[in-house]
Amino acid sequence: MIEDWHTHNYLCRHAVGPLRKYVKAAVSKKIDTIGFSDHFPYEIYQLKDIPYKEYSMTLEEISDYISDAKKLKQEFHEEIQIRIGFEIDYFEGQESLLNRYLSKWKKELDYILGSIHFLEPKEGIWCLDDTRYMHKYEFYGNDTVYMEYFNKMKKMLLSKNFDFDIIAHFDLPKKFNKHPYDKEKIKEKAIELLEIIKKKDKVIEINSGGFRKEVKEPYPSREYIEIMHELDIPIIFGSDSHDPAEVGYRFNELRKIVMEIGYTQLAHFHERKRTFIEL
Ligand SMILES: [Zn+2]
Ligand SMILES: [Zn+2]
Repeated sequence: MIEDWHTHNYLCRHAVGPLRKYVKAAVSKKIDTIGFSDHFPYEIYQLKDIPYKEYSMTLEEISDYISDAKKLKQEFHEEIQIRIGFEIDYFEGQESLLNRYLSKWKKELDYILGSIHFLEPKEGIWCLDDTRYMHKYEFYGNDTVYMEYFNKMKKMLLSKNFDFDIIAHFDLPKKFNKHPYDKEKIKEKAIELLEIIKKKDKVIEINSGGFRKEVKEPYPSREYIEIMHELDIPIIFGSDSHDPAEVGYRFNELRKIVMEIGYTQLAHFHERKRTFIEL
């Protein structure tokens, strides 16, 4: 079975192609399940100083996103399973605001990816994986970026009102090949997070998008996947496609890596319920 749980589409303004093209690409690659996980609207937070309009669909567009997805689910049901989700950023203290907008759509969702893309130091919010903010790694130092990123992820995991199923791109700060200076310190922090993820019974995405970036490897790194396996943390695969051509991107390599480590199953989601499929 091949399942791709992380795809975007033109609605988010930084991806290309309608949902239909992603489905067709998945069918042609003999993928069994495709999950739509476009970015949930950032406009609800009224984030100042960042180009949030270039990062997601608008609130008004959610209904089209969901109804298009449901229509495609029907139309293609003999060829492929379609699952509907969102990738949602965690912002501390904004859970009830988020839930006010999300509650209307929750019954339509099969799964939610929980993500950290933004750090909010006192100098101002910035986006970790937008090249326009790359100088911030120099300004703060890579270790501070990693520590703040994992601290925010920890808050996301411990939040009582932030509802999600899967951790997306676990070690995202490495995207531009920015690695920790103090490797041991950051690894220790990452392990603390993995233990919380286990305790909270969340799934971690093995994301092949990293192959397409400067770091040239999946998120998380192999050393973390090994620890995840020891901890018995379930996984899913995601391509983080922002173009239909990227659907299922290098999943054979993901499969090889996780099977070598010892994984034999992948998680699957339907209507927010988790089951497992054989690798
Ligand atoms: Zn995106
Ligand atoms: Zn993301």
